[in-house]
Amino acid sequence: MHVLITGGAGFIGSNLVAFHLDKGDKVHVVDDLSTGRIENIAPYLDHPEFTFDEADLLVWEDLDNATNWADRIYHMAAVVGVFRVLKEPISVLETNITGCERLLRSLHKSHWNTKLIIASTSEVYGNRPDDLPLHEEMPLLINPGHNSRWNYSISKIADEAFALSYVREYGLDVTVVRFFNVIGRNQTGKYGMVVPRFVKQALRGEEITVYGEGNQVRAFMDVRDCVNILQALCEDKRSKGEVVNVGTSREITILELAKLVKTHAESKAEIVFVPYDEAYGADFEEIYHRKPDLTKLHKLSSYTSRWSLEETIDYLIEYQAKRIKEK
Ligand code: NAD
Repeated sequence: MHVLITGGAGFIGSNLVAFHLDKGDKVHVVDDLSTGRIENIAPYLDHPEFTFDEADLLVWEDLDNATNWADRIYHMAAVVGVFRVLKEPISVLETNITGCERLLRSLHKSHWNTKLIIASTSEVYGNRPDDLPLHEEMPLLINPGHNSRWNYSISKIADEAFALSYVREYGLDVTVVRFFNVIGRNQTGKYGMVVPRFVKQALRGEEITVYGEGNQVRAFMDVRDCVNILQALCEDKRSKGEVVNVGTSREITILELAKLVKTHAESKAEIVFVPYDEAYGADFEEIYHRKPDLTKLHKLSSYTSRWSLEETIDYLIEYQAKRIKEK
């Protein structure tokens, strides 16, 4: 199989690269390395079945050739991470919407009925603590004027609208996945992701910084489970034209998470609380509780998650400790 991955040098993208090369597929990655890292794909650069183009998807000249070549496409390229979204409120709209639209237009021109997975996010639900669990059919209520953090959600809602319109109008085989806090190897804490930050701080004995009071609730999924779920969704024809929550039902507060990482890393680091305005600037709006309704996912995929949160944390501690030692 020929697999094209936009944003393939990023966290989820590079795990998809490993998964498909392991299966014997040919993989082509396009990534501008804005948040992705060359070291995420360094082990594959000499692999005979792997091709990498460092390019901006918005102007990439080879896009039509690549969509023609591909049997499957994962669209992961996006401006991500709360820090980056707050800093680049226009770029998040431009990159995320234009990149997705350009890809859909190119795919429509190609001759094949290629499967396309588009990465969306739980952030499209906004802050809905009274409407849990969050299910795919609920109306989305985002106020664009409120705070530029919502530009990310708005960009992904626009991507979803584009994708579903291409399914309805032209019959493209697209599935939109709304990821809920995926964690694992190759994720960086640089742009606001909590687990890699906690792991690094715990291992270095630095303060473990919990934003707000730590009572935000999240459900984390191991990226190894995530890529298996995407594979299962691609293999089930019923996923065409669907928007699907991808996550787990195990909930944990951020303070409990900090304690879990500290204990598993056997760290003496102190857990400290950082007010939101210090972490993100004034007027930041937090999402206090995210819990996915997974009914549709379980209907479309029989895959059950293999890694518990504790196992993933142990794996990341071991992985990160090795990296720190090597540096
Ligand atoms: P990531 O930042 O590691 O990956 C995104 C990749 O896209 C990066 O490698 C970046 O360099 C690349 N990119 C950005 N703009 C580009 C452009 N114009 N042209 C080419 N490449 C470009 O983030 P991730 O966590 O792997 O996220 C992958 C996708 O999943 C994103 O679309 C993100 O919005 C979505 N998502 C992720 C999570 C999560 O928990 N990790 C949650 C919700 C949604």
